[in-house]
Amino acid sequence: MRVTCKCGHKGRIGNCQLDSPESLSLESQCLNVHCGHAWVAKLEFYRTITPSALSAERLQNGPQDTLLHHVKPSALIICKCGHKGRIRDSTKHSADFVTLYCDCLDPSCGHRWVSNLTFSRTISPSALDGERLLFDRLRALPKQQVRELLDQLGVSR
Ligand SMILES: [Zn+2]
Ligand SMILES: [Zn+2]
Repeated sequence: MRVTCKCGHKGRIGNCQLDSPESLSLESQCLNVHCGHAWVAKLEFYRTITPSALSAERLQNGPQDTLLHHVKPSALIICKCGHKGRIRDSTKHSADFVTLYCDCLDPSCGHRWVSNLTFSRTISPSALDGERLLFDRLRALPKQQVRELLDQLGVSR
């Protein structure tokens, strides 16, 4: 299970929280020290491709409590039967929206489903955003004003 920061750098998943049996909040942090962006991603069940062969009764008994149990950054894809799943394929629609095609690894279950990984909210903004913002703002100013600003900072000449 991987998350990517909007700066393009790899992210790390920290705390996870189960919002509902089919929705998981993942606190993520950019591993680029110059960025420092921290955000929440959401992993949500979208639809079933192949239904589970297990009985509804058995499915009702496991998932809710086993899900939290299994929530580890390395094993976030959990079938509703409580067994570990794997990401067979994924489609990246945008930086904020990835579709994951998942298979249950329990052969007696065989459930195949689709989950969506989406950006939810920012915890702390990226420093790269700030720099870019500042740069854009400076560029919009008249050259004379920029020179004065640089003079004040003592960085010109
Ligand atoms: Zn980043
Ligand atoms: Zn399963």
